Amino acid sequence: MTTPQETEIKESLEEKFCRICHDTDPYELIRPCDCTGTLAYVHRECLQKWLQQVSEYKCEICGKQYRCKKKTRSLLSFLFRRGAWREWLHLGYVTFFANRIWSQTGVLLQILKLKQLRFKEKCITCFVYSFVAAHYLAFALLDMRAVCKSFSSWRRKTAKIVVISNDDEEGKV
Ligand SMILES: [Zn+2]
Ligand SMILES: [Zn+2]
Repeated sequence: MTTPQETEIKESLEEKFCRICHDTDPYELIRPCDCTGTLAYVHRECLQKWLQQVSEYKCEICGKQYRCKKKTRSLLSFLFRRGAWREWLHLGYVTFFANRIWSQTGVLLQILKLKQLRFKEKCITCFVYSFVAAHYLAFALLDMRAVCKSFSSWRRKTAKIVVISNDDEEGKV
């Protein structure tokens, strides 16, 4: 049997290294779980990168659940991310057509005011216009749905996992 003091001495004599990259760089070497000895330490960055790829945030050796915070990125950084220009271009097209329909509403109202236009003609004009507007609205909604979906999957992929270690709690780090 070894006393806690003896374990501590033994641990301090052993060289600490990261159990993921095996590097001995002591910067941000943390103890995130109940593992002891040479397996106790891991770089915060290494562990966070590892957790980015797995679905369960727990130690594969001792089974302890890691304490993590998830930092998600904002809608603004989604809109200005690299390669977002394609979506902007698309949005430009949609806005252009929305503008055209909006400006034609004025024309439509003028036509409907014309006294000599018969009731039947007024009905046809209204019908054609509503059809075009509904068509546009449906596409705009589908577009919006696609953007929302792409935003939520991007948010999930880019979320940064921040591990809280035992040392953070004790105020050592
Ligand atoms: Zn490492
Ligand atoms: Zn462990």
